[in-house]
Amino acid sequence: MTWDSRSPVEAGYAAASGQSVAAAEPAGKGRVAAVVEQSRAEILELSHRIHANPEPAFEEHQAAAWVAEAIARHGYQVEFPVGRLPTALRGRMAGGRGPNGPRIGILAEYDALPGLGHGCGHNSMAASGVGAAIALAALAPDLAGEIVFLGTPAEERGGGKQVMIDDGLFEGLDAALLYHPSDTSSAMCALLACADVEVTFHGLQAHAASDPWMGKNALDALILLFQAVGLWRQQIRPSARVHGIVIEGGTAANIIPDRTVARFMVRSDQQDDFERMLRRFDQIAQGAAIAADCTVEVVPSALYSTMNDSHVLQELFRANMVAHGVKEDPYDFTRLGSSDMGNVSHVVPTIHPYLAICDEGVAGHSTAFRDAAVTPRADETTLMAATLVAETAYDLFTDPQLVDAAWREFRGS
Ligand SMILES: [Zn+2]
Repeated sequence: MTWDSRSPVEAGYAAASGQSVAAAEPAGKGRVAAVVEQSRAEILELSHRIHANPEPAFEEHQAAAWVAEAIARHGYQVEFPVGRLPTALRGRMAGGRGPNGPRIGILAEYDALPGLGHGCGHNSMAASGVGAAIALAALAPDLAGEIVFLGTPAEERGGGKQVMIDDGLFEGLDAALLYHPSDTSSAMCALLACADVEVTFHGLQAHAASDPWMGKNALDALILLFQAVGLWRQQIRPSARVHGIVIEGGTAANIIPDRTVARFMVRSDQQDDFERMLRRFDQIAQGAAIAADCTVEVVPSALYSTMNDSHVLQELFRANMVAHGVKEDPYDFTRLGSSDMGNVSHVVPTIHPYLAICDEGVAGHSTAFRDAAVTPRADETTLMAATLVAETAYDLFTDPQLVDAAWREFRGS
């Protein structure tokens, strides 16, 4: 199936923006792929180096430094760190035709998963972002406006992009572009709203054999919470998710545990449903605490939003995919994840397209996907992503009406 098989709403957007997309391609865009190809060794070496040195959220010190060095080498003015996060960075390059043009954001993620490494392929994202930045740097003398590269930490946990939004680092941007590797390809993106929820039960210690009636068992409360969540799943929407692990379950079998801790994630594809779920989760945890005569703290954090996908930008990216013969797969709405790109999409026109680095059916966040992220196929996808992101940015730089259209759609006007 190709991208023509979309819903009428999406097809309507395609028709609306298709005129601009179909306009004569400006001279210069053809150079993007050539520059990426010339930089092949540099881009792929970076992808492999980050893959071989995985660093979890907020600890991507090496990866961020390598990315900062790479874009500085190509003439970007780099601030590293930038804002409050020690592994966030920003690189800026002014267009040679003056400041009177758009500011287009090229993003890069580089965090890995604890115990798994780059099971989400963020090495490819970092390298492709750098590749796009290199290509745009080569074209910058002919552009008006500013290229803004943002190295964004902690996508897997914590939500570094929201911190960067709060730090003002997305202010003044006209677009945010970020590719993600996957087992399928799509210009569009849907995301589940998501929160981390830490639950701590407090009870009272006692000898489990001689004085158990003197104790208040925080593990009972924890077990009841997992059971209640399991029953609750029947009443949640098909696209909603709730899943958790035990962090602390007690210290010894002969001590009634006075403290237990679980970490959950709560998700939904609808923002209002998500907020209802968070309230419901809190009630369930309170109920479990009452049943076990314990007290409980429920602390949500790292709130990720649903995706407000920019159809205008999406169509530009799609047209560039088509021009390069990249086939688009049907979008599988049963396999949604979450990303802090959702948060970005609510402050600036944003896309988060996916490109396949492996055959369909390889699960994300697995050793198989990790191993796929440095294969020759993944490398070609990394280079293609750099080209498509840079070409989409080039489209925006060279046709300000597209930027206006993206903002009109964003504002609903
Ligand atoms: Zn990811």
